[in-house]
Amino acid sequence: MKTIVANWKMNGSLGLLHQALNAWQMKDSPNIVVLCLPSVFLPAAHNLLHQPNFFMGGQDCHTNLQGAFTGDTSAQHLHDAGCRYVLVGHSERRQYHHESNALVKAKAQAALTAGLTPIICIGESLEQKEQGLTLSVLKEQIEHSVPDNKASDFYVAYEPIWAIGTGLVAALEDIQQVHAFLKKELGARIKLLYGGSVTADNYASILDLENVDGILVGGASLKADDFGKMVQYS
Ligand code: PEP
Repeated sequence: MKTIVANWKMNGSLGLLHQALNAWQMKDSPNIVVLCLPSVFLPAAHNLLHQPNFFMGGQDCHTNLQGAFTGDTSAQHLHDAGCRYVLVGHSERRQYHHESNALVKAKAQAALTAGLTPIICIGESLEQKEQGLTLSVLKEQIEHSVPDNKASDFYVAYEPIWAIGTGLVAALEDIQQVHAFLKKELGARIKLLYGGSVTADNYASILDLENVDGILVGGASLKADDFGKMVQYS
């Protein structure tokens, strides 16, 4: 059983949500499916979900569970709305909102306190990759952005920044090498996802790799037919 995560970012529509959720739930999926939707779509999605292994996730949360933080999203509220998961430290948050490893770690801890499973995103830039720094950058990111209690339930998503939304996918050997490294660093029980230009053409070969417990899918999760195929991976 793999974990197939959709990240709609600030995309999609209520129309697409109805169409996609109906199509994806026509057949039982052998996998865990997590839909990280724009927050305003969560109540509608909650009403549409009926397959037991389909779950909702947030795309970010605050470090505090409540307070005077206008415009932010509380992990507690995501949980109340029916979410079981939340992305933290996505590279777009790190880049556009200047999120540090320490902030990402505090968000992951808030998510755990609220009863959510955080999906902590890490990944190297193209420059770092070209300088041969991938593993050291990832080691630093996991040292400073994953919760101290390794017995907690969380996922780590390896998302090379240069592969997100670019159509460039990491080579299978590189994904394999990085995931073997992360499993060794984090322990076998932490689930590892790969994200970065996963498509209907390449998802199966990525999911077949050892130590790849699932995928995190951006652009292709907005294509109902393509993501529908991924949901059915076996
Ligand atoms: C993402 O948003 O995390 C992502 C991997 O996007 P894409 O699949 O479009 O590269």
